[in-house]
Amino acid sequence: MRSVSANVSELFVSFQGEGLHAGRRQLFVRLGGCPLRCRYCDTPESLVPVPVCRVVTADGVRRRSNPLGIGDVEAEVQALADAAPPLHAVAVTGGEPLLQIDFLVAWLSCRPRELPVLLETAGIMPERLVRVLPWVGIVSLDLKCPSNTGERARWDEHEACLRAAVAAGRDVYVKMPVDEDTAAEEVARGARLVAGVDPRVPLFLTPLTLPAEPTLTIGPGGLERFHALASRDHPDVRILPQLHKVLGIL
Ligand code: SF4
Repeated sequence: MRSVSANVSELFVSFQGEGLHAGRRQLFVRLGGCPLRCRYCDTPESLVPVPVCRVVTADGVRRRSNPLGIGDVEAEVQALADAAPPLHAVAVTGGEPLLQIDFLVAWLSCRPRELPVLLETAGIMPERLVRVLPWVGIVSLDLKCPSNTGERARWDEHEACLRAAVAAGRDVYVKMPVDEDTAAEEVARGARLVAGVDPRVPLFLTPLTLPAEPTLTIGPGGLERFHALASRDHPDVRILPQLHKVLGIL
């Protein structure tokens, strides 16, 4: 194995809370660091590299100093997987995992293939996504609406990422977080973008949840309106809240 290391925030097993595979039990590898600062971010502890990685096991939480080498990460992943079958996938998340692209390529290219890798990304780094796609089976892409992130628009980057994942034949779905502040024209633009690349890619409108409590930040009327709007341009628009917040799990 090459000596590339990673800043890992957390390793744990839980149920996938969002998108096409919500409810499936997965092993999460959460990498530290993100170039964005979405107003609604629910993983603020992963925005910058962290000194210590939390490994959540059935016996409690172990802490390991960062950075972790490829062998360290793989050994922890294997131990968690062996202790907690059955699992659907290894979910690589963040932060923005593509920030640590050299580690991802080095690790994923040499790890066992029993479990597929699900990559959760904000969809803003298409060149890096292309580099890691050969070892990723499932791609979960976000569409970020400037009206609720407070960030600048990234439509071109989102489209390039989606095109790359579709062209590679990956199992891909798109999530668009929405709340009462979300601009209707951005919902419509996102739906057109996804349908324009491939109308078979499902678009999940994800109602945002207030921090620390399972209360949605958008009511049923708003969701109905956004669903109808997006459905004018996209044939497969779905509403799905963040299941892990409803269940009160990691
Ligand atoms: S991309 Fe994700 S991790 Fe980064 S700031 Fe936005 S919500 Fe948080």
